[in-house]
Order: sequence, then structure tokens, then C-alpha cells
Amino acid sequence: MGLKKAIVTGGTRGIGKAIVRELATKKIGDDFFADVAFIYNSCDSCADELVAELTALGANVKAYKTDVASFGDVQETVKNIIADFGSVDILVNNAGITKDNLLMRMSEEDFDSVIRVNLKSVFNFTKAVSRQMLKQRGGKIVNISSVVGIIGNPGQANYSSSKAGIIGFTKSIAKEFASRGINVNAVAPGYIKTEMTESLNDNQQNALLEFIPMKRMGTPEDVAKTVLFLSGDDASYITGQVITVDGGMVM
Ligand code: NDP
Repeated sequence: MGLKKAIVTGGTRGIGKAIVRELATKKIGDDFFADVAFIYNSCDSCADELVAELTALGANVKAYKTDVASFGDVQETVKNIIADFGSVDILVNNAGITKDNLLMRMSEEDFDSVIRVNLKSVFNFTKAVSRQMLKQRGGKIVNISSVVGIIGNPGQANYSSSKAGIIGFTKSIAKEFASRGINVNAVAPGYIKTEMTESLNDNQQNALLEFIPMKRMGTPEDVAKTVLFLSGDDASYITGQVITVDGGMVM
């Protein structure tokens, strides 16, 4: 059994998968750090594989298929998770998509869908866990933003707006929930090796490395370890912050 109960959105791939692994298998004495409910959208086999991998290690992990952009579905899913797990102590809003294009070529649909999946989902899940966390007077919420939500990026007006929105949301809810012992923080990764960044060619990757003082792309584990810290008791006096995990790209 895990000491805490956690929800991680977008747990089947990339950064989310690393976060699920980190929270579910980290040992605190004889116990695992957390039992983890993770959310995914389409890849059933990815979800089954991850559950099997972590269950074999003795961890308690369960997958829930839900579109994070749907308010009603999210309320229902979180209700089911709380019924299955007994409570929720940690929420990691990680699910995200990109639909990049220069503004002149960006459709209304591409703008709206990125905002709904990346930003409205954070509202949907925070709202869904808030009653439980406020009642128990404790909890940790970690929202995955991005460095482009801080510095912008051509071709990503939709994505960078969603990620900047997450930062505003994080700070507002941190202020609303601080007196109830709930910490709300954001992590802003730089360029991390996942399927999301796989489409960059060698030239694009080399150009990006120019701007990274540490001269390497990050790994999903680099982000997951920061999320683990912010989800734990050692981070109890940290709230409303944006922690960049980017090899020094933005400082
Ligand atoms: P991936 O594309 O590798 O994985 C995305 C995850 O989100 C998958 O598990 C996917 O599930 C899930 N997901 C997508 N849409 C939905 C939806 N509508 N409902 C439920 N689940 C959904 O992304 P990364 O791991 O690269 O990124 C994770 C987060 O980190 C994102 O928020 C991203 O913006 C952010 N980030 C990533 C960076 C990078 O360099 N990779 C840099 C900065 C921030 P399924 O497989 O079932 O579709």
C-alpha cells in the first residue's frame, strides 16, 4: 500500500508515465510513496502495460480512461477514483497536446482544442478533487506547464497560451487553498525527450541545444523527480511557485 493516494493525468506516455512510475515505486521505509490512479485517453495497451509493469513490482496502480477536457466525465471519474482509493492527496495535471502552426495558419479548432485539453482540464480536475482536499485540510496539486508559457514560442500561440494560463490558475488556487494546507505549484519543463518532441529533426534539436546552458535535452525522469518532491511533505512550505526544469534555459 502507498502512503498517499495520487491522481496523474496523461499517465500512459512520456513525462506522465515517468511521474506515475516515480510516485508509485518510490519507497519511504517499507511503504511505497503513493497508490496511483492515472488517466489516459486512447492507448489501452499502453495503460495495461504500465499497470502490469508496476503491479509486478508490488505497487498499487489503476488506469482510468477519460477525456480530460470533458468536465462531466472528469467529475464522474474522480468520484470513482475516490470510491476506489478512499481519498486523494495528490493531483498531478500533466495531460497535454500540441497543434502547432503560425497564427496565420492556425484554425479556430486547433486553438480551442489545445486550450480545452491543456488548460480546461486543469480546472476540471482541480474542481473535482477540491471538495475532498478541502475537507481533509491537506493536499498537493502539481500542474505541468512549460517554459514556453513563460517566454512564448512562434508557432505555439495556442500551446503557450494554455501553459501561461496554467501558471495564472496555479497562483490563484494556491492563494485560495493555502490556509487549508493545500499546496499548488507548477513545473515548467524545457525540452524533454518524449514523443511530443520526437518530431524535431537533428537541425532543430541542435539549434535548441544552443539555448540550453547544460547542452542536453531533459529526460521525463528529470521532471518526475521534481514532481515527487513537490508532492511530498518536504515541500510543505512551497506554494504558488513555478519551478523550471530546463537545464538553465530560462533564468
Ligand atoms: P506525450 O504526448 O508523450 O503524452 C501525453 C499524455 O497525455 C498521454 O498519456 C495521453 O494519453 C494523454 N492525453 C492527451 N490528451 C488527452 C485527453 N484529452 N484526455 C486524457 N489524456 C490525454 O506528452 P509529454 O509526456 O511530452 O508531455 C506531458 C506534459 O508535459 C504535457 O502537458 C506537455 O505539454 C508538457 N511538456 C512537455 C515538454 C516536452 O518537451 N515533452 C516540455 C514542456 C512541457 P493517450 O496516450 O491515451 O492519448
